[in-house]
Amino acid sequence: MSYARVLCVGLAGVAGHLVEVEADLSTGLPALALTGLPDTALNEARDRVRAAVVNSGRDWPNRRITVNLLPAALPKHGSSFDLAIAAAVLAGAGELPPAPLDRVVLLGELGLDGTVRPVRGVLPMVAAAARAGITRVIVPAGNAREATVVPGVTVRAVDTLHRLVEFARGEAALLDPPAAPETAEPPGPDLADVAGQEIGRYALEIAAAGGHHLALFGPPGSGKTMLAERLPSILPELDDDAALEVTALQSIAGVLPPDGGLVRRPPFQAPHHSSSLAALVGGGSGLIRPGALSLAHRGVLFLDEVPEMGRGTLQALRQPLESGRVVLSRARGTTEYPARAQLVVAANPCPCASPAGDHACQCTPLVRRRYLGKLSGPLLDRIDMKIHLLPVRAAQLTVATEPAEPSTAVAARVARARTAAAARWATGGWRVNAEVPGHRLRRPPWRLPSRDTAVLHDALEIGVLSARGFDRCLRLAWTIADLDGRDRPAVGDVCEAYQLRMGEPTTRSAT
Ligand SMILES: [Zn+2]
Repeated sequence: MSYARVLCVGLAGVAGHLVEVEADLSTGLPALALTGLPDTALNEARDRVRAAVVNSGRDWPNRRITVNLLPAALPKHGSSFDLAIAAAVLAGAGELPPAPLDRVVLLGELGLDGTVRPVRGVLPMVAAAARAGITRVIVPAGNAREATVVPGVTVRAVDTLHRLVEFARGEAALLDPPAAPETAEPPGPDLADVAGQEIGRYALEIAAAGGHHLALFGPPGSGKTMLAERLPSILPELDDDAALEVTALQSIAGVLPPDGGLVRRPPFQAPHHSSSLAALVGGGSGLIRPGALSLAHRGVLFLDEVPEMGRGTLQALRQPLESGRVVLSRARGTTEYPARAQLVVAANPCPCASPAGDHACQCTPLVRRRYLGKLSGPLLDRIDMKIHLLPVRAAQLTVATEPAEPSTAVAARVARARTAAAARWATGGWRVNAEVPGHRLRRPPWRLPSRDTAVLHDALEIGVLSARGFDRCLRLAWTIADLDGRDRPAVGDVCEAYQLRMGEPTTRSAT
């Protein structure tokens, strides 16, 4: 037989498609032609596969070989097709019986010596295979653990091409994937470590309960980063679908630990303010790497020292934050990654960033205003709460009368508030208050009495509050009421929401 066919998976964004790898061997000048929209990395597969076959102790068929990847119209990236191409060629040449590989998806890159190397994106590839009705996959040993998180698929692993050939001939067994590690994810940073900062902690709790975006202003050492990186610790764990999405994105980015299973904790991404645009939104050649924005999907994107970020960078973030997805255009088509993240931005009050904030700082009010002005406009308008943190006084650190409340206690209140909100918005399919469209909140039955929202109407009238800001205040007020266990926001909740929105000291920060 001089024709054979095996299965593989190609990725477009997080979506995978079953790809048939056909090999046809005919008489003619010995050569290997690869057709079906391969990219550069995949074109180089010809040399890798040939060397791997020869170095595995097999004869390379001295015939004219055509390898075709179907469907031909789908662009194919990267090196994950190597193993399937080698298997198809060897099966076509009669070196390997095809029956044991029937309806089996093969994934893996080949080294020149015939070893099978791990590839990025194995989890979404196996998930796509499962959706297409495939129940058996063979993956590189280094990717076997992540492949097992997909339900309904039997995963086997290979370390060398030699082993795959021996397996097909019934002379050796494939490898079993490693067992799930006993220990769960290590605990992340806990709110119990944060001394003082009542208003900061309260704003964080509201942000977690309602899914609101948050801005933290304050001098260095006021705990902006400490607070932000503890937001995931009070968010609920990811449900099955979200966990699969988040783990798949980490798999494509190549940042999943080898023994790691399904990621259950909401991710936290803190790109540096000098990060390249590609690092933020995604990029690179071949299989495009998701950026920090997508790696923060279903979790928290923390932008520290945000005024230092370029205007162009902030502009590039705006659209994905709004739409919840990143679209990257390339000559060979577009790639789309999800990017529904909760945003926390932080800024020093002035460019000199002196710790005391008032004594050492020489910045004029104009300089300070101009510095924070870089933040103004569309991005800041999308942020629900603006919190000014004061430096933590030595007294708060040393004379703490009782330990700060741990994350588990706060997370329990957040979960209760989220349950109430999800039940209220169940008919619309919204899970948190931040997702509810403004018009729903402004119409019965959810419209609040106008005497309760007078403060918002006045602010809108004189132009200190935008229409978007008006709706954001309403959503915040609902979250405050949810956290307090009440059915509807009262006038006090609306006022507090307005103060949080405008960055004014609230009644709580005074206490
Ligand atoms: Zn200054």
